[in-house]
Amino acid sequence: MQNNSFYNEILTEHNLHPYHKHGLADANLELEGVNPSCGDDIILRLKVVDDVIVDGAYEGEGCAISQASADMMLDLLIGKSKEEGLRLADIFSRMIKDKISDEELEELEEAGVLADISHMPARVKCAMLGWRTFREMVE
Ligand code: ZN
Repeated sequence: MQNNSFYNEILTEHNLHPYHKHGLADANLELEGVNPSCGDDIILRLKVVDDVIVDGAYEGEGCAISQASADMMLDLLIGKSKEEGLRLADIFSRMIKDKISDEELEELEEAGVLADISHMPARVKCAMLGWRTFREMVE
């Protein structure tokens, strides 16, 4: 598993220089996700054409984990089908709550650094916020 400094580096990078934290004028799906236990609050927007997520963005505020997780999620989701996105959401949620295979961990790319959140129950909802919002939105 990754060491702590790598984990912190990735989280910091996604908070200082998020790729996907902006508005999305031509979005056709929009949903707010709130995690009251931490104060995380995001609005997720996707542009879905023929079941493919062609673009996505989020805005909002919250802790470093919630924001970085949403940013890394969009890295993974953009360009995928909704169905593939839901499959990744399932892998991510199993990673946070339990265990996944090495192959599955690779599929999550950078988002895999959040695996250790499973040892921090208070932060699970922060890491899951973006993914939970995505699921609610497309299911
Ligand atoms: Zn949080």
